[in-house]
Amino acid sequence: MSAQIIDGKAFAAKVRGQVAEHVTRIKEENGITPGLAVVLVGEDPASQVYVRSKGKQTVEAGMNSYEHKLDADTSQDDLLKLIADLNADKDVHGILVQLPLPKHLNEDLVINSIAPEKDVDGFHISNVGLLGTGQKSMVPCTPLGCLMMLRDYHGSLSGMNAVVIGRSNIVGKPMAQLLLGDSCTVTIAHSRTKDLPAVVRGADIVVAAVGRPEMVPGDWIKPGATVIDVGINRIDKPEGGTRLVGDVDYASCAEVAGAVTPVPGGVGPMTIACLLANTVTACCRIHGLVEPEGLTA
Ligand code: NAD
Repeated sequence: MSAQIIDGKAFAAKVRGQVAEHVTRIKEENGITPGLAVVLVGEDPASQVYVRSKGKQTVEAGMNSYEHKLDADTSQDDLLKLIADLNADKDVHGILVQLPLPKHLNEDLVINSIAPEKDVDGFHISNVGLLGTGQKSMVPCTPLGCLMMLRDYHGSLSGMNAVVIGRSNIVGKPMAQLLLGDSCTVTIAHSRTKDLPAVVRGADIVVAAVGRPEMVPGDWIKPGATVIDVGINRIDKPEGGTRLVGDVDYASCAEVAGAVTPVPGGVGPMTIACLLANTVTACCRIHGLVEPEGLTA
C-alpha cells in the first residue's frame, strides 16, 4: 500500500475542538449560546441513529440541541408550522430536517420553508444559488467536509483536474461547485457518463459519491491522485454479518493513489463536524459577530 490515509476521524475531532472554542468565546463575549434544532419525522432507524449522534455532538461542543421528533403521519401543515416556529425562535440558529421524509411530505417545499440563514444543511434554494454564484452561503456539510480535507492535504487546489462521480443535490453538485470555487477543472460524472474509467483516469482528485459498493477500482485511478470516498454502503460479509464499505475499492485504490479516505472513518465523521461548524457560522452571521476562520468554504 502506498497511499497516505486521510484520517477523517482525527480531522473531525480537530474541527469539533475549533467549534467548541468558538462556542466558548461567543458565550463569554456575547452571552449567546448557539442552538441547533433537528427535526425527525417518522421512525427510520438510520435517521434515528444520525439524529442521536448529531444531538450528542452538538451538546459536547457546548451548544444547545433541540430535538423535535414527529410521528410518521405528521401532516405537511404541521411540519411547516413547526419550521415557522423554529425560524422565529431566537435561541435557534440552525435548523436541520432529517432526510428522507415520509413519502406524503414534499421535501423541496419543506426545505425551502427553512429560513436560509438557519439552513445549516445548505439545501435551501437560496443557498444553492449563492454557492453556485460564488457568494457567501451555508454550504452542504458533506461536500464541505471533503473540501476541508482536500485543502488540508494539498494546500491549494488551483488548476487540479477533479472528477466528481455522482450528481446529487446534496453531494455531487455542491462538491463540484466548491471545487470550481477553488479553481479546479471540474468534471461531473454520473450514471450516463461514457467511458467512466477513462474520465476518472484523468483526475488528480476523485470524489466518489455514488452509493455503489466498491465501484471504483484501483486501475481507474491515476498514480498519485487523491481519492475522497463519500459512499457508505453496508454489504454482507462471507462469514456472516455485515460491514461498511465505500464507493471505492479501498485495497486496490490505496496501491495507486497518493492519498485516500477510508470508510468508515473518512468523510462520515467530517459531515457531522461540519454541521456543528455551520451552526456556529449561522449564529455569527445572524448576530453580526466575527465568523470563525477555516470553518466554512
Ligand atoms: P444519490 O443516489 O442521490 O446519487 C447518486 C449519484 O450517483 C447519481 O447522481 C447517479 O447519477 C450516480 N450514479 C449512479 N450509478 C452510477 C454509475 N454506475 N456510474 C456513475 N455514476 C452513477 O446519492 P447521494 O445522496 O449523493 O449519496 C451517494 C453516496 O454517498 C451514498 O452511498 C450515500 O450513502 C453516501 N453519503 C455519505 C455521506 C457521508 O456523510 N459520508 C453523506 C451523504 C451521502
